[in-house]
Amino acid sequence: MIVFYLVIALFGLVFGSFLNVCIARLPSGESIVLPRSHCPRCNHAIRWYDNIPLFSYLLLGAKCRDCHARISPIYPFIEALTAVILCLTFYVYGLGPEFVKFALFGMLLIVLIFTDLFDRRIPHPVTIFGISLGLILSLFIPVDVQPLAWVLRHWDVYLDGSLASILGAVAGAVVGGGLFYAVGEIFYHAGGKQKEYLGFGDVMLMLMVGTFLGVPLTLLTILLGSLGGSIIAIAATALSRRFRAYAWPYGTFLGIAAIYTGLNGERLLDWYLRISGMTR
Ligand SMILES: [Zn+2]
Repeated sequence: MIVFYLVIALFGLVFGSFLNVCIARLPSGESIVLPRSHCPRCNHAIRWYDNIPLFSYLLLGAKCRDCHARISPIYPFIEALTAVILCLTFYVYGLGPEFVKFALFGMLLIVLIFTDLFDRRIPHPVTIFGISLGLILSLFIPVDVQPLAWVLRHWDVYLDGSLASILGAVAGAVVGGGLFYAVGEIFYHAGGKQKEYLGFGDVMLMLMVGTFLGVPLTLLTILLGSLGGSIIAIAATALSRRFRAYAWPYGTFLGIAAIYTGLNGERLLDWYLRISGMTR
């Protein structure tokens, strides 16, 4: 078993190194293929043996081999984070189709969490690719079609198989994107019409999350992301005045909540329904 974790962690480091490239280049619309990775200060191409995830950072002592400029610890952090997320996904889903689905979901979200955090950007190429991928995967891996199935049952329409799953994914996207658009509108009007609240990138992010998670878990993502984001923003503002003017990246909180919900949302929902005396 430990061998599985090691192999998955190594894949995670390698994929994480690619996610770093996406995070650095996509917000400004650069190609993620060319040119090869280079030092941002001296522009020297990074040698293949200096481009080994995590280990090169440690071996080089966090410095460029050519100009000795400091290498940001963000790079190894994202590589390690990707390895951890993939291992957690394996822990929850084992090795199967669900692992592939939620590993891809987690990696798409890692890119969006950090592009929103660093650049306040949620690049459309990532979300459009993610929405397409979520819809395609829903054909093979069932997406929760509640509460749409519950509504349709009243007209004697029963959903089944791939059709049910893809409808669940579409409903998730419509509810996630739509509700988030409405929430954005409310914040926009309540918050003195500051532009930051109304990022269409956040709507795209929630469309993507909806296709992967379906309606119930998408709603849970919005709840957890908004709640977590508010608590952290309020606590930070109470601790330091300089956070008062800080534009918080909503997409970052939604992304973290979506990763959590993808891994543990079902259990949280079941637990909540059990303690409140309801069943599904
Ligand atoms: Zn350099």
